[in-house]
Amino acid sequence: MSETNNNLHSITNYHSPMYADLGLFNQLLQMIDGDWSDSIKGICKHIHSSFHALGVSLAVFDKNFDEFIYLDYSLNEDIPAKLQKINIDFNLQTAVGILKKVHETYAEILEDNIFSGTRLAKLALHYFDGDKEKFRIIENDIGLKTVASFPVLESNKRFKCVFFIFTGRDISDEDKVMLDSYVPQLDVALEIVFLVRELYLKATHDNLTMLFNRKHGESLISSELERVKRSKSPLCVVLLDLDHFKSVNDTYGHAAGDMVLKMVAHILTSSLRKCDIICRHGGEEFLLGLIDTDVNGAIEVTRRLKDRIQMCKIPYNNTIIQITASLGLAEYDPKLHQSLQALIDHADRKMYDAKKSGRNKIAY
Ligand code: GH3
Ligand code: MG
Ligand code: MG
Repeated sequence: MSETNNNLHSITNYHSPMYADLGLFNQLLQMIDGDWSDSIKGICKHIHSSFHALGVSLAVFDKNFDEFIYLDYSLNEDIPAKLQKINIDFNLQTAVGILKKVHETYAEILEDNIFSGTRLAKLALHYFDGDKEKFRIIENDIGLKTVASFPVLESNKRFKCVFFIFTGRDISDEDKVMLDSYVPQLDVALEIVFLVRELYLKATHDNLTMLFNRKHGESLISSELERVKRSKSPLCVVLLDLDHFKSVNDTYGHAAGDMVLKMVAHILTSSLRKCDIICRHGGEEFLLGLIDTDVNGAIEVTRRLKDRIQMCKIPYNNTIIQITASLGLAEYDPKLHQSLQALIDHADRKMYDAKKSGRNKIAY
């Protein structure tokens, strides 16, 4: 239970953890089997071959570097095997990891920049924690001589988009002119990506907490239910309702109430696993889908949530707001629950039991 949840907190910059938002992008790519993703891939491949590069990549992340979205790369076929020799198992996550680590010291890697000779050596040695043998393999076996980076879609206020080119030679002024000629095409393709992304987020996420909205959350749990019916693995749902939340609004104002909701969302995302489903089900009510979790596991998880919410001191103006929650828990049982709604209703009844027995309780 050590991994944290992959809801979209970093988008709001609210206690934003650093993580790679690859899941979302893969989802997007699948949703739109279409021209725009093909066109980015196409442009990358085209630059790769016309430049005789070792590889190229297009990286996208937010300006604070909190959220990383990696779009695409194209590498010569022999490179992954050569990277294996220095224990680099190359994939999207690795690429993100390399960029993050290098960016810590060489923020200018994201600017219009060329790294070759001693600059490239410094960069690589930083990545390899000073291991010269690894750099030797990069230099000799792979033949990397220059890494050039240039920003694309500079008009975008929120995201930073950088195109990287890895080559075994120097980059001439002519090369630069050629690369510049690709920029407008990349700009257009990226504009479409961001537009689709925005639409996707609006359709599936709650605007205040950035958790999944009710419709999307229920649809994800419903898919899990179908899986569970076949695999017979356990699944629990939890309804969590904040106690006397109305009085938070009445005492401190609506903005304070909003802040409490965001804080609770943060506690949920940082306490549950990546695979668990968390959504804002209504005003001050959250629905959780605990994957592969039986009732005993779910009791443990919900206790932790209840305690963390109760312990949380939320600073607001010059006071501290504290809140508690009541949680109702139900484990999926094919004999009892004919539908997801029946399972949610079960958890809802339990949540009301928790309220009736004094609030700040768990009922199952
Ligand atoms: P109980 O312990 O019985 O659940 O009491 P409660 O006060 O939490 O429940 P009630 O249903 O009476 O009130 C819920 C309140 O949540 C009322 C509503 O104004 C508030 N609320 C719903 N959505 C939002 C929101 O987005 N922001 C804020 N600030 N308040 C909200
Ligand atoms: Mg309530
Ligand atoms: Mg309620």
